[in-house]
Amino acid sequence: MLYRTYGKTNEQVSVLGFGCMRLPVLDGIARNIDDEKAIAMLRHAIDNGVNYVDTAYPYHGDGMGGGGASEPFVARALKDGYRDKVMIATKLPSWLIKTREDMDRYLNEQLERLETDHIDFYLVHALNAGTWKTMKELNVGEFLDRAMEDGRIRHAGFSFHDELPLFKEIVDAYDWSFCQVQYNYLDEYYQAGIEGLEYAAAKGIGIAVMEPLRGGKLVRDVPNGVQAAFDKAEPKRTPAEWALRWVWNNPNVAVTLSGMSTMEQVVENLKIASVAEPNSLNQQELEIVGEARDAFRRMKVNCTACAYCMPCPAGVNIPGNFSLINEYYFLDNDRQKQGLKSAYTSRMEEEHSASMCVECGTCEEHCPQNLSIIEELKHVVEVFA
Ligand code: SF4
Ligand code: SF4
Repeated sequence: MLYRTYGKTNEQVSVLGFGCMRLPVLDGIARNIDDEKAIAMLRHAIDNGVNYVDTAYPYHGDGMGGGGASEPFVARALKDGYRDKVMIATKLPSWLIKTREDMDRYLNEQLERLETDHIDFYLVHALNAGTWKTMKELNVGEFLDRAMEDGRIRHAGFSFHDELPLFKEIVDAYDWSFCQVQYNYLDEYYQAGIEGLEYAAAKGIGIAVMEPLRGGKLVRDVPNGVQAAFDKAEPKRTPAEWALRWVWNNPNVAVTLSGMSTMEQVVENLKIASVAEPNSLNQQELEIVGEARDAFRRMKVNCTACAYCMPCPAGVNIPGNFSLINEYYFLDNDRQKQGLKSAYTSRMEEEHSASMCVECGTCEEHCPQNLSIIEELKHVVEVFA
């Protein structure tokens, strides 16, 4: 395992961080984390050098309104001496905060859920124009200072989903030690992007990267054009290796969070992380990734399948519908497209189909990719009608 300095925190963090957002579950239910598999995966990663475990209040829950099963899972997984081997990152659910007291209330609840007396890296979660306004008004900086003084948290940071100017404003507004941004070879110029990353790094802010595989999109069933680009390269690498190596190629990136769902993914990512030196891709390799990026640009909806928008009160399977429309746009000819149209009703049960949307707008408030979900679902209906 390779380690990098995490900006002003001065901690040495493993380049691979274990994200606890997409753990294996039983019966397809997000709350039912498969402890046997997931604990084995996390401990295997720690035994092989991973020292950064990332979770958040709502992960593996029923939506963004309450606490999920991920933080309590982390507590269980880190028993038997594993807590002392890692640093925990978790996040203040900024969208649930209505008063200054709420901040302490959630942090204290999270300490209990995690069964720990301190959180190593505490992030203000999912900052965007709306949540940042509230955080500023409620003086989140004073809360973070207090929490560091009394030892409940060790380092303060934020995670971000909005445009670059706001990112810079937030960076400048407080003495953050680290931040977490979405960064992968499709999103080099999206949200904070490369410019934001460099801006923060220049101020000594450690960089954690989320969505390095874009919710699995850069790995699963990659379109023919993407695979054709990778097939040209020697030595051969998997789509996951190309995507992770591209992120780790950036020397400003400290830790990259991967939401691993199987032991095979853990083993593969550990192997890739062992060669993840900065500036280790040559010009030809970077051009191959560029070709793959161009092929991906045909993707219709930039959904990462994070499920922050779920559950939909009308029953729509939002990420499932977007996955199907993207699959449709990836297809190379009309015959295949017609086949997928015919298969829509068998692959998407009627009660979860895009046509069930009643345009209430609840989902759009929570989408970190700022997707126009209602409009995109209308397009899904048009295509698959
Ligand atoms: S806008 Fe449509 S998809 Fe979104 S939550 Fe409301 S009904 Fe569901
Ligand atoms: S629509 Fe947005 S919130 Fe919903 S799964 Fe996709 S990226 Fe996540």
